[in-house]
Amino acid sequence: MSYNIAVIEGHGIGPEVVAAAIKVLQTVGKTHGFDFTFKKVAAGGNAIDAFGVPLPEESVKACLDSDSVLLGAVGGPKWDTLPGHLRPEKALLGIRKELGLYANIRPARLLPELKDACPLKKEVADAGFDMIVVRELTGGMYFGESGRREGKHGPEAYDTECYSEMEIERIGVTAFELARTRSKKLISIDKANVLESSRLWREVMHRLAQRYPDVTLTDMLVDNAAMQLVRNPKQFDVAVTSNMFGDILTDEASQITGSIGLLPSASLGETKRGMYEPIHGSAPDIAGQDKANPIATILSCAMMLRMSFGQNEAAQEIEAAVSRVLAKGLRTADIAAPGEAALPCSAMTKAILEELK
Ligand code: NAD
Repeated sequence: MSYNIAVIEGHGIGPEVVAAAIKVLQTVGKTHGFDFTFKKVAAGGNAIDAFGVPLPEESVKACLDSDSVLLGAVGGPKWDTLPGHLRPEKALLGIRKELGLYANIRPARLLPELKDACPLKKEVADAGFDMIVVRELTGGMYFGESGRREGKHGPEAYDTECYSEMEIERIGVTAFELARTRSKKLISIDKANVLESSRLWREVMHRLAQRYPDVTLTDMLVDNAAMQLVRNPKQFDVAVTSNMFGDILTDEASQITGSIGLLPSASLGETKRGMYEPIHGSAPDIAGQDKANPIATILSCAMMLRMSFGQNEAAQEIEAAVSRVLAKGLRTADIAAPGEAALPCSAMTKAILEELK
């Protein structure tokens, strides 16, 4: 068995964490009798520099022809002043749209080994938490009509949030199905007291709840959710929310696990092909210094093996190797306690590879 992986290294720490993840995939592949063909795909800044557009058609085709996509992170100061349609982030949005990846699955679990890295009160950290945020990925504000115009008081800019019933229903089904496999509790996060799109979101979620009588659905306003995440994260098991709210809340959820460098994600659609990426960005502040935490990208590969390829054992081995390395007290700078020695990205990767062998 051989899997074709389209690899978008991206920028900043992207190439560093992707290189680490590829080594991990190759190592578990050897143990479990499968291998990979990795095809580098230009997208984001590299594509802008080489071809003048963030997402060339050839790159879309390479992703469509692959069994899954592995992405580091795109974006960086070099391209920050380009107009919106030429920004590296457009490549990401484009791939999600072209591949129909409407469901972004973002687990956020406080590993027992990292309780000390959790910035919350000790009793909250001791209670632990293990949640999955299901974020809608191809609709809402990031895909709505936007632009600039001349307003009453001079130039103005606008972005619009638009959701169809179909878009809400399919992400709702993903979330209800996932909740069924876990604690059977689903929290739907919206802003229905203000936004019409959220009122439709809530109506559709309630309608779906009738199809899933075994799952308890609770509504939560997004401002309250932001507060509850730091007050009592344990109350969340599966949460479902829109594109923009999910983007913001999962960064918050990541920080309470210890570091954004720990959290993986999977973006899925109607087929087995997914895109797997850490939830962090290109971290220009630490790029090229061998300081990045590779764990989020490595755990994204575990999600790829499980969710796209059904290689559950290999996925579990990766997760267990990461846990064992952390249990030994090995830390990259982002999760080290003040004054504690920190490993570079390459040494953390080596330690995980040793555990896998
Ligand atoms: P960021 O996630 O890149 O960095 C935020 C902070 O977290 C920084 O201090 C960084 O050093 C730290 N950090 C992030 N990942 C880390 C890791 N693996 N190990 C250790 N520390 C880590 O967010 P930002 O600074 O807001 O964005 C930088 C660029 O990345 C921007 O151009 C942005 O558009 C882009 N971005 C891309 C994606 C993506 O490709 N999916 C996501 C978010 C941001």
